[in-house]
Amino acid sequence: MPKVKEGFVNHDKCINCGLCEKVCPVLNNTPVNNEPKAYACINKDEKIRMDSSSGGTFTLIAEQVINSGGVVFGAGFDEDFTVVHSYAESRESLSNFHGSKYVQSKIGDMYKQAEKFLKQRRQVLFTGTPCQIAGLKSYLRKLYDNLLCVDFICFGVPSTKVWKKYISYHENNIGAPVRRVSFRNKKQGWKRFSMFLSFDNGMKHIESFDKDFFMQAFLKKICLRPSCHACNFKTLHRQSDITLADFWGVQNLLPEMDDDKGTSLVFINSHRGELIFEQIKDKLLYNMVDLNEAVRYNLSAVKSVKQHPNRENFFKELDLISFDALVKKYIQFNVSKIKEN
Ligand SMILES: Cc1cc2nc3c(=O)[nH]c(=O)nc-3n(C[C@H](O)[C@H](O)[C@H](O)COP(=O)(O)OP(=O)(O)OC[C@H]3O[C@@H](n4cnc5c(N)ncnc54)[C@H](O)[C@@H]3O)c2cc1C
Repeated sequence: MPKVKEGFVNHDKCINCGLCEKVCPVLNNTPVNNEPKAYACINKDEKIRMDSSSGGTFTLIAEQVINSGGVVFGAGFDEDFTVVHSYAESRESLSNFHGSKYVQSKIGDMYKQAEKFLKQRRQVLFTGTPCQIAGLKSYLRKLYDNLLCVDFICFGVPSTKVWKKYISYHENNIGAPVRRVSFRNKKQGWKRFSMFLSFDNGMKHIESFDKDFFMQAFLKKICLRPSCHACNFKTLHRQSDITLADFWGVQNLLPEMDDDKGTSLVFINSHRGELIFEQIKDKLLYNMVDLNEAVRYNLSAVKSVKQHPNRENFFKELDLISFDALVKKYIQFNVSKIKEN
């Protein structure tokens, strides 16, 4: 395996034992589910919905699992705003998982922890990118009927190093450490979402996704993990029980479910997914939709994005020039030349 120096994976400690190849979800075929049923969903709890990236469906699933004595694994921030996986055993500690963090989350030893709970016969909800779910299943090498997996339609994950550069850039400008982050602030609407940062000195940064330097680096595909450009998990036959996403295009397909506060597109991929959906559906506004129609507005479900032509230069200069100058140099200059896919 190559060493990746862009803030993604550190193989410096590799002892060439070969175990990673044995459990690699890309090299090994793992069974997948049939084509899903698709729904548009809105959590009736307005506050949770506003704190969530799309319709707040994740929180309902997670609360259901916690209420039945289970454990929920998800991605949150640690004290210096690195995105890391951890687990929650109470409703209060779920709040760190709310909202998308557009950075690769560090899994640490969470597969091992999940296995421990599964063996204790506790119900486990594991949430993450499609490749993280595939990784968990390969790691476990055994099916557990007390495991529920939730992934999402994934555009790709940016590098932690790029994220840290962005945070430092703002902290230096503002002169105080970051206190709170939301990648998907909905104050100006869900479709025109903003990056929100607040700082210890009371200052705030709020910038719409089309102007924020980090969101532009993410959405213009200049800082994604290399494997995201040839993702093996772009399919409607998912390894998860439920897939969550933003219901882009809801205004065309189900205008009555679009108030610009966020609507989730939810795929129910398995019988286990169906059972949990039955348990939470009273707390949702929902409507079944045609799967192919929904995917037409969300091609990241089935197709990897092409990398930005300046990706290599961007990473070469990441340590050399300021974050704003770097983004202006390689992204805004090229904006009109990039064809979206
Ligand atoms: C990196 C990334 C790329 C995405 N790309 C798309 C896309 O192209 N199209 C689309 O429709 N939707 C995409 N999503 C999903 C979307 O942003 C919402 O997360 C999803 O609709 C669920 O929203 P919610 O309102 O139900 O719950 P929320 O509360 O918003 O979701 C929280 C859930 O997301 C998980 N999560 C958050 N950040 C990460 C992370 N870095 N790594 C792993 N898990 C994480 C949490 O563990 C929790 O399970 C992406 C999400 C992420 C994190």
